[in-house]
Amino acid sequence: MTDTSTAAQPHLSTADAALIPTETPGIAVANRSFDAIVAALRSALLTLSAPQQPVSVAVPPVIARALLERVGYVDGFPNLLGTVHSFAGSPARWHELQLARDEQNAPWHTAQQITDVAVLPATCYHLYPLFEGKDLTEPVVVTAEAYCYRNEGTHEHGRLRSFRMREFVRIGVADEVTEWRDAWVARAERWLGDLGLDVSVVPASDPFFGGAGRLMGATQREQQLKWELTAPVGDGAVQAVASANYHKDHFGTPFSIRIGGETAHTACAAFGLERITLALLAAHGPDPASWPARVRATLAVGPR
Ligand code: AMP
Ligand code: ZN
Repeated sequence: MTDTSTAAQPHLSTADAALIPTETPGIAVANRSFDAIVAALRSALLTLSAPQQPVSVAVPPVIARALLERVGYVDGFPNLLGTVHSFAGSPARWHELQLARDEQNAPWHTAQQITDVAVLPATCYHLYPLFEGKDLTEPVVVTAEAYCYRNEGTHEHGRLRSFRMREFVRIGVADEVTEWRDAWVARAERWLGDLGLDVSVVPASDPFFGGAGRLMGATQREQQLKWELTAPVGDGAVQAVASANYHKDHFGTPFSIRIGGETAHTACAAFGLERITLALLAAHGPDPASWPARVRATLAVGPR
C-alpha cells in the first residue's frame, strides 16, 4: 500500500533523516527518519541505565514559574527563560482588541498577561520536587524526557530553542553522587564512541547571565561541577551532546530532601536527543540504513 498521506511531501517519508527548519529561528520539525533515530537513542539510553533501575516518569513541557525562581533559574538565566502568557480580560475587551487589530494592525499580544507557568528549561527541574520533604533511606535514580525551551540568542547548527532532553537524576550523599556522575561521564563517552562519534570530555559551566554570572561560571568550572561531552554536529559546529552535573545541595536544600537525616546531594546526566542525532548524521550520512554495522547494532536502527 502506498503511503498517500506523505506522498505529496517526500521529505517527510524519505529514508534521509532531517530536521526541517520552520520560519522561526531555532524551531524545527523532525521528519520520520530523524524521529526514528531519536526513538532508538531513547531506548538505547534506557537500556544503558537499566542496571541503575531508574524510576521513570513523564513530565510536561511547562513548569511553575515560582519553582524556577526558588531554584535560582530566573536569576541565573533570565535571558533563556520563556514564560507563558494568556489573555485575562472580558470578551468585550477582546472584541475591542480584535477591532483595533483589524483596523490599525495593533498587536493583540499586548493584552496577554503572564501566567504562573514557564516553558520547561531542563527536564530535571520536574524531578527534585517529587522528593520534597522526604528523608530517603537509600539513593534513588529518576529519569524523564521532555521538550525543553531556551530562548537562545544564536542559532548556529545544533542550537535549537525547542529540543528534547533525556535526563537521569541521582539523589543521595555527596561522595556516591559524584561517583555516579563520573560513571555517567565514562559510560556516555564509551557509548558515544561506540556510535562512531568523535567525542571529547570537557569541564564546562552553565551560561549564567551578566557579570556576576561569569564569576559563577568560573567557580563551577574550577570545582569541576559540570562536564560536557562534545561532538561535531555538522556544518563545522561542535556542540555539547550530553552533560553531567553535580549540584551539591542546590536542590536538596530548597526542597528539604534528606537521606538518612542529612541534606541530600544531587547530580544529573542530560542527553540532547536532536544534537546526538545531528552528530550521527554528520558522522555517518543521512540514511541510517547505510551506517556502519557497529553503529546500527549499538543503536538498533536500520538493517543489522
Ligand atoms: P545543559 O543543561 O545546558 O547541560 O543541557 C543538557 C543537554 O541538552 C546538552 O548537553 C545538549 O545536548 C542539550 N541542549 C542544551 N541546549 C540545547 C540547545 N539550545 N539546542 C539543542 N540541544 C541543547
Ligand atoms: Zn539536569
